[in-house]
Amino acid sequence: MRYTELPSGEHVPVLGLGTWHMGERPEKRQDERDALLSAVDNGMTLIDTAEMYGDGAAEELIGQALGGRRTDAFIVSKVLPHHATRRGTVAACENSLRRLATDYIDMYLLHWPGAVPLEETLEAFDALLRAGKIRYWGVSNFDTADMEELLALRGGTAVAANQVLYNLARRGIEFDLLPWCRRRTLPVMAYSPLEQGRLLGDPELLRLAAEYAATPAQIALRWVLRDDATIALPKAGTPGHVRELQSALDLPLSPRDLAALDRVFPPPERKVPLEMI
Ligand code: NAP
Repeated sequence: MRYTELPSGEHVPVLGLGTWHMGERPEKRQDERDALLSAVDNGMTLIDTAEMYGDGAAEELIGQALGGRRTDAFIVSKVLPHHATRRGTVAACENSLRRLATDYIDMYLLHWPGAVPLEETLEAFDALLRAGKIRYWGVSNFDTADMEELLALRGGTAVAANQVLYNLARRGIEFDLLPWCRRRTLPVMAYSPLEQGRLLGDPELLRLAAEYAATPAQIALRWVLRDDATIALPKAGTPGHVRELQSALDLPLSPRDLAALDRVFPPPERKVPLEMI
């Protein structure tokens, strides 16, 4: 496993596991539980979830799967924007803690910018930090202007990450948001790195996969992880998929391969408003 640094200096793996839609179907439960444990066993210890996922079902699955192994994982969860008032954030966090069967969340994110004034959410994050219920807080789906606004607020510079949509087909953040975060050594977590599977039939990915005796999913993921700075959060619902994604880290994508991918998936030449899924 490779690691990157949070602003605090703590190391987290560059490859985590997403859990959107996990815990929703009883017949998939065993596979999903095994996928989570396989991820944690093999260093993919950062687990991304949210109160929104399955109305708490993903958090419950994580709590049950980890059992006594809570400290082996770094759990990221998220509060919905319409819950993100001073009191609502604390209540949402308490509910997530109960579902996750833990007394702390490693990183707690505002899921996307909403109508509640950010000051209120920040006050709540601060109270949760002081109570030891969260270890870090961050944001998700914040574009550059949202980040500027956040950093201008009292306490805003304590933000520990921004989680955004990023994959070969969604490169808009490379124009401004990604360099903005890099300049401030603020980690970027890339969600939907496989474009929810839609990238996997792409002919260029299939060609490169054949060249490396790999799979398109591995090539797409390796591309997101090409600089060891961005954290990628693919969702995989079986241990087989988890293992396949983990071994993507070993693929040696060359400058020639990257240039070939640039031709098919060109980097942005101007500002593109941040996209969301
Ligand atoms: P994704 O990770 O891009 O793609 C997930 C899909 O890829 C699933 O259908 C999965 O199938 C498939 N897959 C995984 N490994 C594979 C492999 N080795 N071969 C073939 N297919 C494979 O999409 P995502 O779930 O939207 O994004 C990942 C995570 O990011 C989410 O789960 C969530 O934690 C987070 N997220 C955050 C936000 C936000 O607003 N902050 C938004 C969206 C997502 P199986 O399930 O069958 O393995």
